[in-house]
Amino acid sequence: MALLTQQRTLCKAVSCSGVGVHSGITVNLTIKPAPPNHGIKFIRTDLPDSPAISAIFNMVVDTSLATVIGSEGAIVSTIEHLMACFVGLSIDNAVVELDGYEMPIMDGSAALFTSMILEAGIKELSFPRTFFTITREIILEENGKYVKASPHPFFKLSSTIEFAHPLIRKQTYVFDLSEKTFSEEICMARTFGFFQEVDHLRRYGLAKGASLETGIAIDEESVLNEEGLRFEDEFVRHKLLDCLGDFSLLGMPIIGHIETFKSGHAFNHAFLNELVSRKDCWETKQFNNQPPPKAKVPKSLAI
Ligand SMILES: [Zn+2]
Repeated sequence: MALLTQQRTLCKAVSCSGVGVHSGITVNLTIKPAPPNHGIKFIRTDLPDSPAISAIFNMVVDTSLATVIGSEGAIVSTIEHLMACFVGLSIDNAVVELDGYEMPIMDGSAALFTSMILEAGIKELSFPRTFFTITREIILEENGKYVKASPHPFFKLSSTIEFAHPLIRKQTYVFDLSEKTFSEEICMARTFGFFQEVDHLRRYGLAKGASLETGIAIDEESVLNEEGLRFEDEFVRHKLLDCLGDFSLLGMPIIGHIETFKSGHAFNHAFLNELVSRKDCWETKQFNNQPPPKAKVPKSLAI
């Protein structure tokens, strides 16, 4: 598997609009190209002075229902699906403009964001990427769940979920990073919710934008969406998508194998903090892509 060693961004800006899953409010979203070493930044165009928030783990302010980043009172909620696209399509630099506080949920997957970015095109920048390379195994465990990172030649993510629900039970998915695997196997997996839970969240003024168009709804034994599931294991594929988004907040592409077992946004975030503090387990690395200098012709052979 070849590593993409140069930084990348979009070729042009793309836009869409949709409702936030919790707020139910329609927002307009524009994703724009950005220069090298810019990273991913969200801009709240609806607020005075349009504050920018970097999509990086130390800007995370809440992980209870979705991943929320914030700075000086401005927040952007539910960033994980778009962030997963940036990892899946190996995009390092982008400006994400939003005129509200919650990202649009679309169909509950990252399919639309992915096709928008692929349609805009992706360009390579003449700056090397800095990789976060796992050099030693590290594991964080709590109440039967864990996240583990270990050395591996490229980025690999394995996720396992376990629910007592007869449609889900135990599912595992293993993902080797490439644009093709992300866009064909992961990006269209939708978020899922238990019908009873949506009812409960609504009582607290949440899940206002949730419907059968914005994700999979299941009751005690069946899928309520008429069209059924997109994959038999759509649930774990979506969990893997969420994990991609969460781990993207390292702010650097990862070289290593991450395994998650029954993990969610909060635990993934706790793992990132632990990983960054354990400096004996990783190093940063750049790959010089310049062609080797031409060999000099020895003087005795020069004409
Ligand atoms: Zn999700």
